[in-house]
Amino acid sequence: MKNYLITIALCVCSTIGYGQVLLKPIPDKTVILTFDDGVSTHATYVAPLLKKYNFDATFFVCEFPPDFEDKKKYMSWEQIKELNEQGFEVANHTWKHTHVNRMSPEECNKELAYIEDKCESLGIPTTNSFAYPAYDTDDYIIDLLKDRGYIFARVGGSRPYNPEVDHPYLIPSYSTTGTNKERVINAIKEAKDGKIVVLTIHGVPDYAHDWVTTPPELFEEYLKYLSENDYHVLALRDLQEYIKVEYALQNLIPDFSKNLKNSN
Ligand SMILES: [Zn+2]
Repeated sequence: MKNYLITIALCVCSTIGYGQVLLKPIPDKTVILTFDDGVSTHATYVAPLLKKYNFDATFFVCEFPPDFEDKKKYMSWEQIKELNEQGFEVANHTWKHTHVNRMSPEECNKELAYIEDKCESLGIPTTNSFAYPAYDTDDYIIDLLKDRGYIFARVGGSRPYNPEVDHPYLIPSYSTTGTNKERVINAIKEAKDGKIVVLTIHGVPDYAHDWVTTPPELFEEYLKYLSENDYHVLALRDLQEYIKVEYALQNLIPDFSKNLKNSN
């Protein structure tokens, strides 16, 4: 009888949250594309290709030092504005790509405010998605992002995102960096059973940091794979259609003990 009661209790616990976090079930084959660092090829190569396949995406921008002014390496703010005009999500990656664990909360507020203000001055809707530079985090960030009205924040971790378990400020992702096509395709295939696959993509290629390049020919193969296999390809903001963000922010526990990094 005792065991029976324990079993019942466990079942009740494990089902609390189910259906409370979600507004509707996550369809299988849901993939989010996120692009980091505001690099030049996002405007010149990636965006036109995404349009060709009719895919949405999130672009996490910053003014990467020391050579943000080198337009062979990085997008201009004019190009970032055009991404917004083309319908993509423009989101915050801090002002100077400063790692969250290397800033005080005051400095972090300043870094986030810079991008928010810049976007506002250019008529880009105030962004409420964030990506951690170099996937580095710190406990203080949870309250800080809440205070600034953010709804999603992305880390690494090389695993799919389970919105019923993962806190919205620690959304895991896979990186597409490198030439291992099989690794990326296998990652994409994890988008099922309520889990979402978020891809982190740097330059295609990356003229600022060549070690995080995704080769253009492979990138197009990934888009083709997503298209031919009927994946739903979204921006991070589009998840508001499926997730009760307020509920998730209040009730899910941010687990900093998990791997939050991608190797690239
Ligand atoms: Zn970055």
